[in-house]
Formats: sequence, structure tokens, C-alpha cells
Amino acid sequence: MFVMSALVVGMTACGEKARTTQKANDWVVDRFDDIKILRYEVPGFEALTLQEKMLVYYLNEAALCGRDILFDQNFKYNLPVRRTLEAIYADFPGDRSTPQWAAFEKYLKKVWFANGVHHHYSNDKFTPEFSEDYFDSLVMVTPTENFPQDFGSMGELMKVVKPVMFNPALYQKRLDQSAGQDMLAASSMNYYQGVTQKEAEEFYAAMAVPGDTTPISYGLNSRLVKENGKLVEKVWRVGGLYSPAIEKIVFWLEKAAEVAEPHQKETIEALISYYRSGDLKEFDRFNILWVQDTVSRIDFVNGFTETYGDPLGYKASWEGLVNFRNEEATKRTQVISEAAQWFEDHSPVDDKYKKERVKGVSAKVITAAILGGDCYPATPIGINLPNADWIRKDYGSKSVTIQNITDAYDEAAKGNGFQEEFVLREEDRERMRQYGNLGDNLHTDLHECLGHGSGQLAPGVKGDELKNYGSTLEEARADLFALYYLADPKLIELGVVPSDEVAKAEYASYIMNGLMTQLTRIKPGKDVEEAHMRNRKLISEWCYEKGKADKVIEMIQQNGKTYVVVNDFDKLRTLFGDLLREIQRIKSEGDFDAGKDLVETYGVKVDPKLHAEVLARYEKLHLEPYAGFINPVYKPVMENGQIIDIKIEYPTDYAAQMMDYSKNYSFLPTKN
Ligand code: ZN
Repeated sequence: MFVMSALVVGMTACGEKARTTQKANDWVVDRFDDIKILRYEVPGFEALTLQEKMLVYYLNEAALCGRDILFDQNFKYNLPVRRTLEAIYADFPGDRSTPQWAAFEKYLKKVWFANGVHHHYSNDKFTPEFSEDYFDSLVMVTPTENFPQDFGSMGELMKVVKPVMFNPALYQKRLDQSAGQDMLAASSMNYYQGVTQKEAEEFYAAMAVPGDTTPISYGLNSRLVKENGKLVEKVWRVGGLYSPAIEKIVFWLEKAAEVAEPHQKETIEALISYYRSGDLKEFDRFNILWVQDTVSRIDFVNGFTETYGDPLGYKASWEGLVNFRNEEATKRTQVISEAAQWFEDHSPVDDKYKKERVKGVSAKVITAAILGGDCYPATPIGINLPNADWIRKDYGSKSVTIQNITDAYDEAAKGNGFQEEFVLREEDRERMRQYGNLGDNLHTDLHECLGHGSGQLAPGVKGDELKNYGSTLEEARADLFALYYLADPKLIELGVVPSDEVAKAEYASYIMNGLMTQLTRIKPGKDVEEAHMRNRKLISEWCYEKGKADKVIEMIQQNGKTYVVVNDFDKLRTLFGDLLREIQRIKSEGDFDAGKDLVETYGVKVDPKLHAEVLARYEKLHLEPYAGFINPVYKPVMENGQIIDIKIEYPTDYAAQMMDYSKNYSFLPTKN
């Protein structure tokens, strides 16, 4: 599970960070459409030992090799479209200063950013702002041999690519989880082919072994297809689907294993074994080894990990992340994780749904060294893994806050005018200035380290009963745990916050974002769909309604503008506790109907008037609601055939990095 920077403000929740800056400061390297690209620094890399640097380098290569996999997972025609656009982009001999070319380049930058033709967050297909005729003219002047050849002829390639780009009625959404339809038919993701939702659900329900307390993650690493009337899993492994890319990943992991310390070596070898066999039992073995390694300074995520992209929540997108521990900042999370049992015991949740013994919650603050797959260019700011409930229960989980990424957001957001526009009271603005960053980071720590790991299921409940509402409710549970404890005197006692001002800063931002400012990410007329956004809206709207009589939260109209104000922080905390108790009950009992009711009532529908107002106010500030990152580059320094050092460089050309990745890390055929 992950947390994206929620933030349109500076506050966050699970998820991505969406702050922006009006002035182009030097942290912003590119901006297009609703996106800005930031750079991030990797402080401390130079101080690593040579062996650690080599480990980072090899894992970094492994993290870059799966990029094509994600493109193909997101939609079956993403690779043909991307490679066609890149063939044109590389050698276009004509005028690159025309508005049509600018529109073409913008479209390509969006496809790179989203790892496909659908928006990374809203899931809606992009509409090109150049004409089909212009596109034809670009194709005409590009040498035929530069285009992908797997379709036999240019005619066949264009038959695939052009409808994707220019027919808005086709493949409208990558992911559509609206109720009352076949979600697989409505979604263009490539995790299923020719299979109905009912068939897929029955297929995986039949796999579950009654009474199995250590179930594998059914369906996690395969595409489910119908062949000759039978359902078959095409497993992603060496020798299976996506083999050419997975072989490269394995190649670099083998190098990494050679320079890793014994436990980490065994961990990496288990991952390699899983990539070779596709056996999900091996994946569990890897996760158990991985979660038990709390010593290694260098750590990584590499593989089919998060299931947010599958409407049914079985199949995982490929991601890669390499990082090392920020020793100083980790002291903060260590204090919190050492008190994990205290937090569990004192939570407002029903005693029977609390963990009697919280196991191995390890939390650290990390420095990201490379982002790959589903962590690039948009990236989480916090991650908690593994995802399998029984492994979390028996072995614990590892939780990270990615501080060099949140620092980059902070730097890029300085002076962007957001607070002046949306925060009514000077006292709130002052609190956010002073404590916003700490509040954000602590929220992420608590969400990842304690929130996701807390609670337990009732006997007989498997954990997948909440279906398409599961992700939203799980994020809400983790957010509420974090919000509830942010204002607990225990945090002052532990020395991680100086006063209750930190919680007030976070509460004010969180509610403002959930009720109002996050709407900037939604196109007019659309509902809220993404799980983290639904979660924030659900929490904020529910607390607004339940506290209405006491004016706990108020929507104030002033000078024709709407402002969200929290009046009673203590009562708001009580409401967070009440909702946490209910959502934990829903999860523990697998109460689908109650979960659906909460999400549909509070998390989905948008007030069109408020929405239009927010969009207009953002527009005036020139704030892009989404951000992503350009990666550093690692270069080995050789002497007599030996690596004697690894140098880090910080490129600033987003398009050049994407073209470089497509040239050097493109291993899959165009058709998979
Ligand atoms: Zn989360």
C-alpha cells in the first residue's frame, strides 16, 4: 500500500503530492497540461561505501528494466502508441516551432507521464490537441523502418494506433469502478482479456482453500484470458508473459545479490526464484525474508506489487524503487514504531478487532535513489509492504516515508500563493507554515507504519469481501488512525511533536483538501474515482455532516469565495475516532453493504458549483494539480575493468530522459 502526496496544499495523505508552484523555481524542470516535473536530490549517496553504491547501482538498473511491462499492463495498445510517437519525435525533420508540434509534444509527454494513453490519476483517455491530418503528415515524413514492425505493415499499425488516439468513444477509461456494471468491460486495463467480471470473480473464488490461514495472493502476477472457452492465467515470469523484460530484471538482481550481505542476498535470490518460476509461494517466501530485513541500509521494492490498477484488486502493476535509510530522520519513526502496541491498545476500535500483539512494525525514513515502473514519474511519498494480510499479521510490515521526495515538493511549493487563496484565517496559515511539513511527514509515518498494520479480521473473513470498495476503505482506515493519533498527547510525551499545534495544522489542511481543494484534480462533470481521493472525501464529508450541529467544520462564504474552516479540533478528533471504529468493523467483518454505503454516500459525488469555483481559483494561480519526478543517473567509474566508484548525475531534461529510457530499457515486443 502506498500514500501519495495528497496535496494540493502541502498536506498529504496516502498518495501523491500535488503541490505546485507559480514561479518556476529551479526545482521545477518541466510543466505541461496539469503536470509539473520536479527534480529530487539524493543526499548522502556520496557517503555510502563502494559496496553499498554498487548495490544501489545494480538495483537501480533492475528498477528501470520493467518500464515497458507497466505500459502494457495499463492498456494493450500503449506500447504501439508510445513507440509510434517516439519514432516521429526522434527524427522529425520539419518545423518544431509550430503550435501543432507543441500539441504533439505535449501529448507525448502526457503519455510518458501516465505510462500510457490514460491519465495516471483520473484514468480518462487523453484527447490530442492536434489534428489527425497533422498526425498523418508527421507519419509521412518519418522513415518507415523507425516505426514498430510487429504489426506487419504501416497500414496495420495505423489501424491500431489511430483509433486509440483519435476516436474518443473507444477505450475511454483505464479503470472504471462505478457501481452497477461489468467493471472489466468498462475498463481498458490489460489484466483481463475476453473475461467477464463474474467469470473472473468465480475463477478466483474457486481457488481459495477453505480454512487456509496462509493464502497466496491469487491472481497477482498474471493476465487472465479466455482460450477455447476456458479461463487461463498467462503468468508474468521468465519464459512466460513479459519474459524479455523480466530476464533483464533478473540479470541485474543477480549482480545485486553478489554484492549484498548474506540475509539480503538470500532475499534477492528468493525474488529471482519467484521471477523465474512465477510461483506465488516463492513470492511469499521473498516477502517474509524482505520484511524481516530491518538491518540493511539499502533497500528496494521490485516487482508486481500494488493492485490499485485492477478494478477487481487481484492483479498488481510492476514497480521499482531503490532507497537507503535516512539515519537521522529515522529516529522519529523508530520512536513511533516502538510504541506500536500502545497505539493499538488505546485505539477507539472495538477490542475484538485489535491486534493482541502487534508484530514487527518497522518504520524508517528513506532517501529514494531511483523511481521505476508504477513509482515513476508520479511517485508515492510513503509505502507500506508487504500487502498480504497474513504476512503482515505473522511477520509484520515495513513502512517508509520518502523524505527527499517530500522535501522536493516543499521546495517547489514555496511562494506559490496557494495558502493566501484558500486558507481563510491567518492563524491557520501560520500553523501550516510552521508545522505543515512536520504534520505531513508524521501523518505519512503514522498512516504507513501504524495505520495499515493495525487491526485484525474476524475469524473466517478473508479480506477481499469489500471488493471495489476495499482500497478506499483501507486508505480511510490508515488515514483515520493517523489523524486520530496526531492529536494524542502521547506524541508530545514521545517527543516527536512540540505541541498540539502540529495536529491542528494537519487537521485544517486535511479537511480543506478533502472537502474542497482536491477537486482541482477532477474534470468538470466527473465523479471522484481514485481510491485515495475517495478516502479523503469520505472522511471529510462524513465529519462535516456529523459535526454540523456543533459547527465542528464550517464552509464559510466570503467575497464570493468558499472557505473551509475547522472550529473545534477536539470534537473533530472524536469524530475521526468514531469513523475509524466503524471502518475497522466493516473491514474486520467484511461488511460489503455498509462499506459500499459509506463510500457511495460520502466519497464519490461532487457538488458542481463548488467544483467550478475551485477549478477557476486554481486556474488563476496557475497551479498544476499533479507532480512527478525526473530521475538521477548513476554511472560506474571503471579502472582496469573494475568498478571503483559510482557517480550520480542530475539531468534536467524530462523528454530526453524518457527517450533515453525508451532506447535503453525497452525490452518487450510491441504486441504482448
Ligand atoms: Zn495507504
